[in-house]
Amino acid sequence: MNVSHPDLANLKEKVKKIAIDSGAALVGIGNQERLKDAPPSANMSYSLPSAQTCIIWVYPNSIDALERFFSKKDRMGVKQLKHYAYSTAWKTAEKIANFIEKTSEYKAIPVIPNYKYRKVGERRFDQIQDNKGHPDFSLRYGAVAAGLGHLGWSGNVVTEEFGGSCYLGGVLTTSPLEPDPMAEKNYCIRCKVCVKACTAGFFHESEEENEFSVVIGGYKQVYAKREITARCGFTCMGIIGESEDGTWSTWAANHVCSKKDTEEEWRDPIYRRKLWENLLLAESTPLKLRQNAIKIIKSYAEAALAENAGLHSFTDMNPRCGNCSYICVADHKKKLELLEMLKASGKVFIDNEGKEFVEKINLNGEKVVYYPPTQEEYFENT
Ligand code: SF4
Ligand code: SF4
Repeated sequence: MNVSHPDLANLKEKVKKIAIDSGAALVGIGNQERLKDAPPSANMSYSLPSAQTCIIWVYPNSIDALERFFSKKDRMGVKQLKHYAYSTAWKTAEKIANFIEKTSEYKAIPVIPNYKYRKVGERRFDQIQDNKGHPDFSLRYGAVAAGLGHLGWSGNVVTEEFGGSCYLGGVLTTSPLEPDPMAEKNYCIRCKVCVKACTAGFFHESEEENEFSVVIGGYKQVYAKREITARCGFTCMGIIGESEDGTWSTWAANHVCSKKDTEEEWRDPIYRRKLWENLLLAESTPLKLRQNAIKIIKSYAEAALAENAGLHSFTDMNPRCGNCSYICVADHKKKLELLEMLKASGKVFIDNEGKEFVEKINLNGEKVVYYPPTQEEYFENT
């Protein structure tokens, strides 16, 4: 039960100001009561016993960086934003938690913005295997409880201002802050552009038999049932990724479309082991592609060790898909434009020196080949 109290109102105002001053575009307050019917990752007590409030804030993507990402001009702008958003979310969360503990009698804990999952037994990567992984606290559920939006078909939080193309940060506290009003409208318009931009078949377009729902703050959130997490994992990492019709790829040089495979196949560990073997060891896969996949995995392993996206190095922050969230900008016309850019963006390849290049067909029907800027080249020119 939240109570109105001048000190609490003052604390609420101050913590919101810290979030906004650190670059957040939106901030809201939610509580455990609103999350009581949501899945286990909405239970704040797992991270902080007696926590009753979540403070959640939002960093949006930049349309310019998204246009360059989807048209395959470069992925460095999105990389820069992703790194900024996660590292700033984490630093801000620490700042707000410290502020609450220093200036009040309440406890507070920063929420890791991504890549931290509850362990099942001793397995760190349980979520990759069988979908049983839950974050310590789901910022998505927290954001809905904080009135920032509702879950869209992709399962991402869709805000009025930025759609689902944004990053979240958060803090949990025992302080009973007054929650902000729930968002009245769900801004997901069920356009399914998120599904069209996903080459992995992680979630489906059809609403029959493919829905999942949770109730937050009395509002039913209906979103697409998700398939085994590995399905997204291979593509999101950039190990594989090609459209069903074979005309475009994600930022991945292995042109494999996992949308075509059945869920039964993906749930079979032998199938997944064979896929790994094929991508990393088989001589039928060109050496440069195997080496590239190993390079990506090593980078992810470095980052995964931190178990905190807020602490990833810039080098190891490598967006290669993320399409379902990035493409869901607030302006529907822009969303469709981004989808068209993606469809016309061609494919990524690796040359004999291990460098990434793009091959696409331009508007005149001519083949165009170019090298998007590397990290070093991008910073030399910005
Ligand atoms: S892309 Fe469309 S269907 Fe998907 S979450 Fe966004 S608004 Fe909803
Ligand atoms: S991150 Fe990429 S592969 Fe994963 S669900 Fe989203 S669009 Fe699909």
